Amino acid sequence: MSDSDTTPTDTSADALRTPIVAVLGHVDHGKTSLLDKIRGSAVIEGEAGAITQHIGATAVPLDVVSDMAGELVDPDDFDLPGLLFIDTPGHHSFTTLRSRGGALADIAVLVVDVNDGFQPQTLEAINILQNTQTPFIVAANKVDTVPGWNPNEDSPIKPSYDAQSDRVRGDVDDRLYSIIGELSDQGFSADMYWRVQDFQNNIGVVPVSAMTGEGVPDLLAVMMGLSQRYMKEEMAIDVDGPGVGTVLEVKEERGFGTTVDIVLYDGTIHEDDTIVVGGENKPIVTDVRALLQPRPLAEIRTESRFEQVDSVGAAAGIKVAAPDLDEAMAGAPIRVVGDRDLDAVIEEVRAELAEVAVDTEEDGVVVKADTLGSLEAMADALSEAEIPIVRAEVGDIAPRDVAVASTAEDELHRAILGFNVDVLGDAEDRADVEDVKIYTDDVIYQLVEEYDTFVEDQRQSQQ
Ligand code: GDP
Repeated sequence: MSDSDTTPTDTSADALRTPIVAVLGHVDHGKTSLLDKIRGSAVIEGEAGAITQHIGATAVPLDVVSDMAGELVDPDDFDLPGLLFIDTPGHHSFTTLRSRGGALADIAVLVVDVNDGFQPQTLEAINILQNTQTPFIVAANKVDTVPGWNPNEDSPIKPSYDAQSDRVRGDVDDRLYSIIGELSDQGFSADMYWRVQDFQNNIGVVPVSAMTGEGVPDLLAVMMGLSQRYMKEEMAIDVDGPGVGTVLEVKEERGFGTTVDIVLYDGTIHEDDTIVVGGENKPIVTDVRALLQPRPLAEIRTESRFEQVDSVGAAAGIKVAAPDLDEAMAGAPIRVVGDRDLDAVIEEVRAELAEVAVDTEEDGVVVKADTLGSLEAMADALSEAEIPIVRAEVGDIAPRDVAVASTAEDELHRAILGFNVDVLGDAEDRADVEDVKIYTDDVIYQLVEEYDTFVEDQRQSQQ
């Protein structure tokens, strides 16, 4: 940092924050591997400590992107600080949603296995990206497994691009074009990324291997370019302002009680700040007891896995320890009160929660989901299928849900649909006794289909 950066006149307000990237895709298509590869390569490429570990996220700074991407990224062309990848594992793609103003993620990578093409969760992810108007690129993954794959180490465009024929060598070419075709079936104009000029209106397809790392620099370069070109204005934040973020996960942590892992997308959060967090029944008002970051592996002794920090600015992933977080919800907003009126902030959080619009009826099925975003997506799907909902909540399926479902007047509504949630033991037993059907799945449309099949069967048996 030069002296001029730290002069008192530089308030650091209106700084440009790191774009937040979500990685989505069907199970087993390689989301985790891709994130691991990006993390791993960045660690090898960058100097020690160049890549910062966050809670639930990994930051890849511009200089590391540039080191990895070579001539594809000249750091002088950029003023965004890098990329922040949300790496909440598993099915938490829906945590990329925030109710107000679209997605938590500024940009997304849709991972598609070239051998497998589009699958249910691919389509579900596309649906979400469309609804939240999140720009995305496609990582056509596992190219190393395709017969005839022949990486061209010398080419600036690594994935075996042959300029003469304007094609990718080997059988992979056909598979890449079939992905482009599938995108086009979904209403997108798409092409191989090196032919895309306008990433706002076209989806770039980047052939990659999360295994060998091929194409990963290209992927980073495209994302960096896309963010710089189309998102710079949205990245301008008041870093000194009160922190605003989204809860990724609610977790019990030894010594700290219930904590929330959040991604902060605006402002700064400090220790002792008063915060308002979206809760199951009402907004939770509490004070930050500790802000926790993962401790570098080398430093972990017998002590805590976490390092305590005084404050953190957007964009960042951080664990917040505070009293009374038991009812906090994944996907809910978190806001620092700062010197603003507490009631006004509570009202903002309440309004954000209310925007997760779930219309409930007098009689209908019970819906449970792992996050607010997925609950909203479930409600949309059920409304499309004209299935009424009596109650919709975030959380595992508990006995009280069975109690609610068992009061349904219409026999067909004695059902609980759970998306990405567990069924608590007592609930299962109780459902047996009360003759309440429980359906769980991690693909929304399959869940709706299972319930529909039950409805059909019932109707037929009544005839
Ligand atoms: P996720 O469910 O989308 O997170 O998928 P994973 O990252 O867990 O990958 C699923 C499987 O595919 C694992 O066995 C990976 O090792 C494998 N895999 C992922 N990416 C690649 C790749 O580029 N090439 C090959 N050969 N295997 C891959």
